[in-house]
This record gives sequence, structure tokens and C-alpha cells, in this order.
Amino acid sequence: MIGLSGGKDSLILSLALAVLRRRSPVKFGLTACIIDQTGGTMDTSLLEKFMAELDIPLSIFDHPTYSIMEERDERSPCSLCANLRRGILAAQAKEAGTNVLALGHHKDDAVETVLLNLFYGGRFKCYQPNMFMTRTEVKVIRPLIYIEERRIALEAARLDLPVTSACCPYSEKSKRLSAKKILEEMEKEIPEIKSNVIHALKNVLESDVW
Ligand code: SF4
Repeated sequence: MIGLSGGKDSLILSLALAVLRRRSPVKFGLTACIIDQTGGTMDTSLLEKFMAELDIPLSIFDHPTYSIMEERDERSPCSLCANLRRGILAAQAKEAGTNVLALGHHKDDAVETVLLNLFYGGRFKCYQPNMFMTRTEVKVIRPLIYIEERRIALEAARLDLPVTSACCPYSEKSKRLSAKKILEEMEKEIPEIKSNVIHALKNVLESDVW
């Protein structure tokens, strides 16, 4: 099951998996789910058409995520939102008869997550590219994790994909946006900064831990 947001990342992921489904010697099926967090106001018509062209069944799940976040007035709404959505998608995956959930996180997402965890949580960590969630018994995979966001954006524009993500009221205020800006600034001086952070994630030496 593809966790579809309607943004460029999950559209490229859907397209890539649809192509892979045709060519892979390992046979697998695809389905997708999008969570409408807006209270039913999201226009999904273009997405539905695109997924139908890819021959990927799409289900739409309404969930009042934004109102819950507003009520709870969380310090980090994005992490609550991500947890809620992952839980919903895992449940939807199981209902659809699969135990693999594919998410569209890319390299920039991973590096920003490292910075956020470091600066705000005091921990050097990121989600795994492949992760088994023991509670739901669903495996989360992130096939785009080594691909930079700018390449995904270029490809989505080149293919004129119907990007239709709902405008999130928290996106402009999110700490992730600050991490993105910091990275952009640092990348001017250190072009390989993202690869270096990913390399560090894969090579944490016990001897370096205080
Ligand atoms: S920006 Fe909005 S949609 Fe994205 S994780 Fe944060 S709260 Fe959720």
C-alpha cells in the first residue's frame, strides 16, 4: 500500500512502483490510500484519474487530523500528525490485505529529521529506510530515501504530474521548514552535506559515543 499525500513525492513513488511492478521478477500488487485531513474538502479528482491510469486502486480516508492538532495545541504538530497518519495507513494497509506500507520520504526528509531530532530532541536519530512496526505488524518501506528532493521535483515537473497536496495550516510554521532553510544555507558551503549526514547515520561508532 502506498501512502499517498498527493504531493510530488508520493506521486513519483506511485509511478516508480507501477513501473517496477511491470518489470520486476518478484511479483507484487499495489494499492494506495490518501488521508483527507481537511474534513472532506480536498479535491482528489486529478489524483483519482492519475492512479486509475497507473492501475493502482485508491481509497480515500477522511480523518480530522488538523482539528485534533488544533485542539491539542501540540508543541510539535508535525510529529503528532506523522504518527497519526502512519497509524491510519497501517490500519488501512491491513484492511486491504497487505502488510507493507510504502512512504515517499526522500533524502532531504531524512536529513531534516536528523537535524530536528538533534536540535529539538537531543538525539542523533532518524527513521529507518525499512522498519517493522511491531504493534501493527506492518513493514514500512521508503523506496525514495536516497533520492534528493530537487530531483523528484524536477521529474514531477517534467512529467507534469497532478500534484494536489492540500495546503496544511502548519506547513509554513513547521520546524521542518527551518531545518530545510538551515540545510540550504549550509549546502552552499558544503555541497555534499546531505550525503555526509546519511553516511553518519550508517556509521555510528560505539567508540565515538560519550
Ligand atoms: S506540515 Fe502539516 S501535513 Fe505535514 S506533517 Fe506537519 S502538520 Fe502534518
